Amino acid sequence: MSVLGSASPVRSVVNRRSALVALALLAVAGCGGSVVAGEPHWDYDAEGPDHWADLDRGYATCRAGHAQSPIALDSPTEIHPTDHIEVDYRPVSAVTLLNNGHTIQASVPAESGNAIVVDGTRFTLTQFHFHLPSEHTVDGDEAAMELHLVHTAPSGRLAVLAVLLRAADDPTPLSRVLAASPAHPGRTEAVAAVDPREFLPVDLAQFRYQGSLTTPPCTEGVEWTVLRHSTAVSVTDIDNYRAMFPHSNRPTQPRYGRPVVLAGGN
Ligand SMILES: [Zn+2]
Repeated sequence: MSVLGSASPVRSVVNRRSALVALALLAVAGCGGSVVAGEPHWDYDAEGPDHWADLDRGYATCRAGHAQSPIALDSPTEIHPTDHIEVDYRPVSAVTLLNNGHTIQASVPAESGNAIVVDGTRFTLTQFHFHLPSEHTVDGDEAAMELHLVHTAPSGRLAVLAVLLRAADDPTPLSRVLAASPAHPGRTEAVAAVDPREFLPVDLAQFRYQGSLTTPPCTEGVEWTVLRHSTAVSVTDIDNYRAMFPHSNRPTQPRYGRPVVLAGGN
């Protein structure tokens, strides 16, 4: 059943009230990252991935798109060892964490100079955020969490570098960030001296494919690079994150014949 767009006057009053409630929640959640003020409500439960396209006409691509993310990465069709992206990361003096109601998102100042180079185009790191459990799978396995480092080209195109995070006993370089996560939607917290290089595995072997945002509006044309090898995230950090966001992963989507290239590596 469609949540919006009913012709019934009674229903439309209810819908309007729901919309106002949703707007009020969004006002609390703030307007950073994936939550934009006025954005129709979506979540991973009652209004979860199977229903996103019903929530707003602007979300139609979530169902109609044929280049959606995430996908299962278990059968690379092409191996291009030298066709890897370049990672040009360096320390950042400070990032700002926001609990936007869907994830913990860290804003990275563009002046920090962090970037990736994809097929000759430089994409600047603007933010990173988390999902639990992972969204992509590698050889059929999901990881405890997934880190998405989001980059923007001057044209506005997006490129995401994804890192699968496996559970480990000890604190990791992500612990300082995750331990500072604001538990309440709309709250922010600054974390000084963050080095995104520490979030990556040594071996940068990578799956590359054309996909989409994994959250509404599921916009396509996103350059995806998913590192083949995981890095560690502590069990304590996972448990704390799960207490804020019990699950936040979109299921894997059909490939529809899209090529997946396996590139790079040591
Ligand atoms: Zn993401």
